[in-house]
Amino acid sequence: MTDRKTELAGNLARVEERISSACAAAGRARDEVTLIVVTKTYPASDVRLLAELGVRHVAENRDQDAAPKAAECADLPLTWHFVGQLQTNKVRSVVSYADVVHSIDRDRLVTALSAAAVRAGRELDCLIQVALDAESGERGARGGVAPDGVAALADGLAAAEGLRPAGLMTVAPLAGPFAGRPRAAFDRLLEISTGMRAAHPAANMVSAGMSADLDDAVAAGATHVRVGSAVLGVRPRLG
Ligand SMILES: *Cc1c(COP(=O)(O)O)cnc(C)c1O
Repeated sequence: MTDRKTELAGNLARVEERISSACAAAGRARDEVTLIVVTKTYPASDVRLLAELGVRHVAENRDQDAAPKAAECADLPLTWHFVGQLQTNKVRSVVSYADVVHSIDRDRLVTALSAAAVRAGRELDCLIQVALDAESGERGARGGVAPDGVAALADGLAAAEGLRPAGLMTVAPLAGPFAGRPRAAFDRLLEISTGMRAAHPAANMVSAGMSADLDDAVAAGATHVRVGSAVLGVRPRLG
């Protein structure tokens, strides 16, 4: 193996051990949690190595980086997740490679994504991003809708052609009542998820937890963890 592949294999093994331990501690089966490796800022060559090491889910947060990377990796058996704030002028591009969008936070985005999905003849799984630090009726500083906006967005997704309401996503807040309390934040997300599933039973994905707090997310009941730096290394710049 190349040095980089050996490094990635070691990092993946450590992340896998954390996920397995957190599942065991919570009395959950390991296969209830899917690892998504966030490859933002890292090259397509790393995505290829990860696929060789058995990774099947990757995520990106900027379309201008993701689109060429996904094109270079089109031969790989990967599911692509889009996890960044999404501008409506980027939806046509994102729809061409993404299978799952984690960052639905406004009606205008639902409308634009639906039109792009129909035009491309695709069906997209859509997660509503919840901003647990946003006030009622507002959006979060890093995207996301306040908890009281989730139900209406879910209904909008269910009615939109080419889109499926698939669940919820959050990032543990840096401010507000949940700052420094990722476990409490993820517990709250699971409550909101239970409420959403009453109306949309198939929307059972819960995307929560990153390198620093994936253990808390698994304990709270997350179905998908999004892990970047713990697998690929600390990013040279914010991304
Ligand atoms: C970058 C990013 C991650 C991964 O973060 P790490 O701390 O590197 O694991 C997860 N989710 C989103 C939305 C991100 O932008």
